[in-house]
Amino acid sequence: MLPKYIQNPKIKNALLAFCSRKYTLFSSPMAATEECLRKTLTEKVAAVEAQGNAVRALKAGGAAKSEIDSAIETLNSLKLEKAAAERSLLGGSDSREAFRQAVVNTLERRLFYIPSFKIYRGVAGLFDYGPPGCAVKSNVLAFWRQHFVLEENMLEVDCPCVTPEIVLKASGHVDKFTDLMVKDVKSGTCYRADHLLKDFCNDKLQRDLALPADKVAELKHVLATLDDLSAEELGAKIKEYGIVAPETKNALSEPYPFNLMFQTSIGPSGLSPGFMRPETAQGIFVNFKDLYYYNGNKLPFAAAQIGQAFRNEISPRQGLLRVREFTLAEIEHFVDPQDKSHPKYPEVADLQFLMFPREEQMSGQSAKVVRLRDAVSKGIVNNETLGYFIGRVYLFLTSLGIDKDRLRFRQHLANEMAHYAADCWDAEIECSYGWIECVGIADRSAYDLRAHSDKSGVPLVAHEKFSEPKEVEKLVITPVKKELGLAFKGNQRMVVEALEAMPEKEALDMKAALESKGEVEFQVCTLGKNVTIKKNMVTIQKEKKKEHQRVFTPSVIEPSFGIGRIIYCLFEHTFYTRPSKAGDEQLNVFRFPSLIAPIKCTVFPLVQNQKYEEVAKQISKSLTAVGISHKIDTTGTSIGKRYARTDELGVPFAVTVDSTSSVTIRERDSKDQVRVDVDKAASVIREVTDGQRTWEDVWSTFPHHSSASADD
Ligand code: AMP
Repeated sequence: MLPKYIQNPKIKNALLAFCSRKYTLFSSPMAATEECLRKTLTEKVAAVEAQGNAVRALKAGGAAKSEIDSAIETLNSLKLEKAAAERSLLGGSDSREAFRQAVVNTLERRLFYIPSFKIYRGVAGLFDYGPPGCAVKSNVLAFWRQHFVLEENMLEVDCPCVTPEIVLKASGHVDKFTDLMVKDVKSGTCYRADHLLKDFCNDKLQRDLALPADKVAELKHVLATLDDLSAEELGAKIKEYGIVAPETKNALSEPYPFNLMFQTSIGPSGLSPGFMRPETAQGIFVNFKDLYYYNGNKLPFAAAQIGQAFRNEISPRQGLLRVREFTLAEIEHFVDPQDKSHPKYPEVADLQFLMFPREEQMSGQSAKVVRLRDAVSKGIVNNETLGYFIGRVYLFLTSLGIDKDRLRFRQHLANEMAHYAADCWDAEIECSYGWIECVGIADRSAYDLRAHSDKSGVPLVAHEKFSEPKEVEKLVITPVKKELGLAFKGNQRMVVEALEAMPEKEALDMKAALESKGEVEFQVCTLGKNVTIKKNMVTIQKEKKKEHQRVFTPSVIEPSFGIGRIIYCLFEHTFYTRPSKAGDEQLNVFRFPSLIAPIKCTVFPLVQNQKYEEVAKQISKSLTAVGISHKIDTTGTSIGKRYARTDELGVPFAVTVDSTSSVTIRERDSKDQVRVDVDKAASVIREVTDGQRTWEDVWSTFPHHSSASADD
């Protein structure tokens, strides 16, 4: 019996079409296809319009009937072509929807994940991983530890989720970790303002097929600059487009910022405010001093942390992609800002993959396959260490089973990046929801360590000892506290701190301005406003000093992995369907690599028979001894059905016991089987799942088994 969603012929065909699609190397195969289809449709609409005018002109001019008939015939065939173009454009989103439905149904039915608290009707944005989901997640994390922590000798830490307010005040989260929200004025339902605008633009672009070119360009521009819009600008667009609450169609409030952190208080008094951490990174930054010491006071070094992060998303959606609690795996690589080379960069420099630099995005081009070495040497990627991590992230994701043609590295546009960041790239994976940011890789310069140094008063710095003392010319900024106190009273401390923290260039500009004009406007971020600094309030001068060491705040390069997003994309990239042997059913398969498959092997006695079950138990014991996760299935169901069940869990190998001396080993995707002696079965499975041996090698070593059984 076909699952319900596949019985619908429209969905079934769409699903088959999606599964068998061959992707081309566009920036976004889906987006590029849609772009082409839209262009074709625009041409067809224009042609119909022109031919309609021609027919009208012929009629008005009293042309011969035969001439008018022939023009009408052309018009009708153009109308048919236009209708076909419309269908193609709409069909794209239908097939994506059907594909996603098939994947999600399988995932939920086989308990890869479950909406949390389901018996109480669940809570939006919270999900449980069921047994196979847990196994996949733990395999992904084990590989993450091996690929990053072990490979780079990273210092792994495990910090609490509950975080005192002061830490998140210093990091800027208390003041700035917000999204803009609008409310349904009657029901009070909340929405993310940018999501409503984004949905409106996408929907218009997809469904309004006769949209003129200038409107298409305008909507695309809004989509491209969405992150840049202020509350006022977002509100104005929502009004201009007449966007209302999706369910009730009621009017919406003006957008206003909503802080995404879950607030709590630490201890019973309620006097010590805290938050559930929105990221794991802060735990590493606040431990920098001890970790640096642990590392022998040497740079560079990296610390890593895997843990839960909490974000009270306004409108969680897209299943596992936008949730309120999720697992983050973060790396903070501390490096000397004057030397961002990486000794292992040559190992990844010749990798080639899809990159989407800022320039290409701005000029409307697509992502292109680029050699990493070229991107770094041309300065498109800011430095070698950032390049090294981009390369390592590419290797990590593709080893997990992410399709390399649906993975791209997109550089942040200047307006997306925090002002302190030197460069940021997102590893984006394409799935049925579009391109999704799954890993952020950012050079955050010295911002985080400086922020915590300032707030805590503990210098989070590194030292470079000189072999001989050096005479250096230093810019010394000395705020005149008395004058600043008179001018700024309670705000004096913040102005002093901001003056002292000025980078050299800004200080020299201030010195020049004070000398020429006597006063200067100065932005104090912690006050959120500009103040006027007069000549008597600060002295800025260069002084010569002998120094024995250089003291500096390290830069940090931060790859940050959203584990749930990666896993969901992995589910989509590895899912396919194939017809059953009888051809009456579509069977679901997850093509997981052994590395992450929830179970590596199933063991089936061919028929219910005590001797075969004994052999199955013996093989199971040997598999346990070599550390291979497996499952015995002794149900009396047909072998074909049992294979189908394990294929749907993505189990790569199945051992079928059909004699007491030898067994068959079946590979999931080819369905090929070899015959192996009972006492060798476990070691062959171990070798082939550990990656010591390929299936091709096993296939060429052992006798082939051609089964007349009901194998799907
Ligand atoms: P960010 O600190 O916002 O750059 O997030 C780091 C990573 O966390 C992103 O690259 C995503 O993979 C993931 N992430 C962010 N927000 C969510 C969310 N609400 N649900 C699931 N994953 C998320």
